[in-house]
Amino acid sequence: MEETLRILVVDDNELDRIAVRRALRKAGIKTKFSEAINAKEAIATLQNTTFDCVFLDYRLPDQDGLSLIRELHLMGIQVPLIVLTGQGDEQLAVEIMKAGASDYLAKSRVSPEVLSKTIHHAIRLHRAERQVALANTELRESNELLRRKNEELNQQQQQIQRQNLELQEAARLKSQFLATISHELRTPMNAIIGFSQILLRQYSDSLSLQQINIVQRIFNNSQNLLTLVNEVLDFSKLEVDQLKLNLQEFDLSELVILTTEELRSLALQKKLNLQLQIDIKNSLVVNDPKCLRRILTNLISNAIKFTDSGEIWVKVWELNADRLAIAVKDTGIGIVHNNLDMIFEAFRQVDQSTTRKHSGTGLGLAITNSLVKMMQGKITVESNLGEGSIFQVEIPRQVENEL
Ligand code: ADP
Repeated sequence: MEETLRILVVDDNELDRIAVRRALRKAGIKTKFSEAINAKEAIATLQNTTFDCVFLDYRLPDQDGLSLIRELHLMGIQVPLIVLTGQGDEQLAVEIMKAGASDYLAKSRVSPEVLSKTIHHAIRLHRAERQVALANTELRESNELLRRKNEELNQQQQQIQRQNLELQEAARLKSQFLATISHELRTPMNAIIGFSQILLRQYSDSLSLQQINIVQRIFNNSQNLLTLVNEVLDFSKLEVDQLKLNLQEFDLSELVILTTEELRSLALQKKLNLQLQIDIKNSLVVNDPKCLRRILTNLISNAIKFTDSGEIWVKVWELNADRLAIAVKDTGIGIVHNNLDMIFEAFRQVDQSTTRKHSGTGLGLAITNSLVKMMQGKITVESNLGEGSIFQVEIPRQVENEL
């Protein structure tokens, strides 16, 4: 159903008003018609009522069309305006359109067809303009919203950067503190170890069995404590990038045999079978032997620590001409799948209760992981709870000096 258009005709000439009304009726346009005979009346009517279209005579008794259009514009009254001009007023058309009119029409051309076309065109144009204006407003609003959000994000980012710097500084201080403390602890620890060794070696004849037993315990405990202090020191050095690889050529098989044999007594104490399988043709590598030994010791002593019965295998083989692999496999308690990543983080232990059965700092695997990375290698673990674990380290035959 065609909508009823609310039309206002502003013209002091009654005949002209009638002509417009008649033409609209003839054009078959359903209208609700209102009239004003001068600018003042037109303004008052437009302030109170909303119209779909206004026909405006250019020459009104109290004001010309151009200034009326500008005034309506200033008042924020938005309506499609068709200006009716007299003969010869066409030169005003450009000014009128610039001022905001939708169209203009010479009174002599008022006919049902022309009027119908003009009115529909003006309304369509006006609605399209309104929609564009609305979309523009929405765009401006969302732009403003985005700008504010961006500002908030920037502020948050700055805050995060500040907190990050503070955290880095706190972490640096912590590592420095750990390094200083562990370094300071090493000197008296070494003295205790050294003196208890002298007592055991040189004065064992003058000591009773009970005294020898006590000194032996002092010696063993001090060594455990020194290992722990060394772990903390290495970890804090790794954290502040102070630990560097000392690269040299050496025989990998020899190193693996030596390290494994050193730990055999520990395995024997727990009645564990410690097996070694070396399967390499060329045993020469370029790496840091001390660090590699450290890695192997960590892995084998963990395997012994977390295995109550069964076996531990240490295996070395060539993956290809440039890469080697070392694996340590045990038949121990195993690790829950969810914890497999977490055990490489510093201070992380699967069982972190104070009553845990196994001693340790939770730093061994974190240090191992960092050292393997420094060696341009990688460490992986496979484990099944209650069945055992395999830790595998892959390293290049020749570690490149970092630039
Ligand atoms: P620590 O041995 O001092 O506790 P690590 O960093 O060497 O610290 O190991 C972290 C944790 O990973 C251990 O506490 C243990 O829970 C788990 N883990 C390491 N090696 C094994 C293993 N061979 N079998 C079972 N669990 C292990």
